[in-house]
Amino acid sequence: MAARLLDVRDLRVEFRTRDGIAEAVGGVSYAVDAGRTLAVLGESGSGKSVTAQAVMGILDSPPGRVTGGQVLFRGRDLLTMGAEERRRIRGAALAMIFQDALSALNPVLPVGAQLAEMYEVHRGMSRRDARRRAVELMDRVRIPAAGQRAGDYPHQFSGGMRQRIMIAMAMALEPDLIIADEPTTALDVTVQAQVMELLAELRREYAMGLVLITHDLGVVADVADTIAVMYAGRIVETAPVRDLYRRPAHPYTRGLLDSVPRVDDRGERLYAIKGAPPSPLALPSGCPFHPRCPRAQEVCRVERPPLYEVTADAGADGRTSACHFWKEELHA
Ligand code: SF4
Repeated sequence: MAARLLDVRDLRVEFRTRDGIAEAVGGVSYAVDAGRTLAVLGESGSGKSVTAQAVMGILDSPPGRVTGGQVLFRGRDLLTMGAEERRRIRGAALAMIFQDALSALNPVLPVGAQLAEMYEVHRGMSRRDARRRAVELMDRVRIPAAGQRAGDYPHQFSGGMRQRIMIAMAMALEPDLIIADEPTTALDVTVQAQVMELLAELRREYAMGLVLITHDLGVVADVADTIAVMYAGRIVETAPVRDLYRRPAHPYTRGLLDSVPRVDDRGERLYAIKGAPPSPLALPSGCPFHPRCPRAQEVCRVERPPLYEVTADAGADGRTSACHFWKEELHA
């Protein structure tokens, strides 16, 4: 059995705002094993990135703070361990790739020097060896003419090449787990596919775990093993990727799937989930999805659905759904 790398349990995050306390993450649990990819999917504001920031310890603080739960990395809770140990783990064993490479990279330092610095600081390499490793890594993430381009600054690269450099930065210390937060959102479709392919290839090569945060179901189909769908700060469905595509067990997931454009659609109007996600300052009663849900019943307005185990007799073992009517949805 693959080693469990990350085990997030009942994580809760609040933000203090002028208008009150916003519950951005309301008890999220997920786990990632070595060599596996978990996609965390949801619309903007669903809490998927805030959860990742809490795991990485980079929540804006104040006003954001973790109010409960555990973040176990190889069995040890990052939230309660000493600051020095946590810094060591988050620096080397756990790495993050951000959506906006231009603001994540240092604009006034050549990219080769930024990569080399990682080896000098964390591995104690000489400047010369660190530079050599930096160029090798740039070559590995397929930056053409890496040796020459190591002296260029971030703004001299295209968006796709900058994202490759971000991947190289994350890979430099050969982490056990990478969290990639919308790594391809700003890129056009072809470059998106190349960057995802590279990430998947490196994940396999280094047998790492990968948490891929995205709002785009199209991006995860070929890359993820399992998917956790988030809505209004909670997980509403988890499933192996193929099962979820074939038979969603939550109306929100079905809505997301129906909104993905298909090549065989002939001029039909694209489906869109009606309405907008709720504000974390004013979550609807009962099931937070009920104002937008085509299947909503009276019970949905008053009773919040727990995360039900989607049972084996329904032909879908190992899945969960936070919907009172998951059986009907599964067989729809
Ligand atoms: Fe829709 Fe009700 Fe299920 Fe919520 S519990 S997703 S409102 S059917």
